[in-house]
Amino acid sequence: MSLARPRLTAFKRLIAAAAAVLAAAPAFAQDKVLNLYSARHYQTDEALYANFTKATGIKVNRVDADDAGILARLQSEGASSPADLILLVDAARLWRAEVDGLFQPVKSKLLSEQIPATLRGKDDGSGSQWFGFSTRARLVVYDKTKVAKADVDRYEKLADPVNKGLLCTRSGSHPYNLSLFGAMTEHLGAEKAEAWLKGLVANMARPPKGGDTDQIKAVASGECAIALTNSYYLARLMRSELPADRAVIEKIDVMFPNQADHGTHINVAGGAVARHAKNRDAAVKFLEYLASPEAQTYFASGNNEWPAVRGATLKNPALESFGSFKTESVPVSVIGMNQVKVQQMLDRVGYR
Ligand code: FE
Repeated sequence: MSLARPRLTAFKRLIAAAAAVLAAAPAFAQDKVLNLYSARHYQTDEALYANFTKATGIKVNRVDADDAGILARLQSEGASSPADLILLVDAARLWRAEVDGLFQPVKSKLLSEQIPATLRGKDDGSGSQWFGFSTRARLVVYDKTKVAKADVDRYEKLADPVNKGLLCTRSGSHPYNLSLFGAMTEHLGAEKAEAWLKGLVANMARPPKGGDTDQIKAVASGECAIALTNSYYLARLMRSELPADRAVIEKIDVMFPNQADHGTHINVAGGAVARHAKNRDAAVKFLEYLASPEAQTYFASGNNEWPAVRGATLKNPALESFGSFKTESVPVSVIGMNQVKVQQMLDRVGYR
């Protein structure tokens, strides 16, 4: 029995030596890892990350959470945050993170050439705080057997008494709705915007619940006749070969609202280098990769989003069938600044 001790000590020494080698390894390969905090909840993105690793040798460690969860986590982690890169899926949240100092500026010739200025964060001369890589439209889907096209051709009309009892939406406080309502507040002014929100509540077929796809399905099932959805959820159903999804698409029609005036509301998904990034070079490389023709086409073919880079190839029959349309031009910062006001209005009008 006593013989076991020296052997154990030798074994421990061996373990310690191995641990020292392992500890040294990450420092040696420091630029080969990217810690990514992502709010992109789309399974098709896996290929995007795999292609980046294949092209650069940089491994992606991903933490998934929703936009609000990521912002809260970055706040609580502070300077010790392992995050190098942040991906968010809403304009107002990108703006919030920028204002809260959670990002750092990036100067990149490639990014400033490829990404339109309207889809970039603030630049005080030291670079942009964030870059938009894809856009999505907030569309109206409706049952054409119950609803006249002319009654849903503007977001404003969703609040008309003619549409009473017909509307389904997800929670008013979801970022996609907050951003649409923030833009509407800019178009209408606060007073009219609040009256509009009150009208939406009055027209609900049922209290807000579920995600965007649930709203589309609720129109198809007859639970309601009008709903709001982001374009990629609709395009996903349009491209599905499942008979149940085909049946849903057969039953609905789509409207790009406000084509005769300010245009259809557009939201943006984008990325930024984290304020306390340890692997900054890898993070910038990833941002530049997202602007590459390969990644841009993939946003369209994989997740049915419109590429931010002009001239990028779509390779997506659903997006191509939508054609071109007039898009709204309210600055992201304005939509962001209106969020608190909108939330207060929602509380006042009882929009859950
Ligand atoms: Fe989404």
